[in-house]
Amino acid sequence: MARKMVDCRTMPSDINCTLTIAGEEDEVLDAAVAHAVAKHGHEDGPELREGIRGGLVDVEPALA
Ligand SMILES: [Zn+2]
Repeated sequence: MARKMVDCRTMPSDINCTLTIAGEEDEVLDAAVAHAVAKHGHEDGPELREGIRGGLVDVEPALA
């Protein structure tokens, strides 16, 4: 399975977060949701998950 990453810098954010999470899609999704709820004040739910899933990109070889 291809590793994916989500970069907080590409997400709308009011705390100038620079976190990057990389791993398999489900792992990234779970971690990113937990992070979004804990640090960005988002509410866990289908909308948040779909939004994060839409922001996933393939991990560059240097980070894989
Ligand atoms: Zn963040």
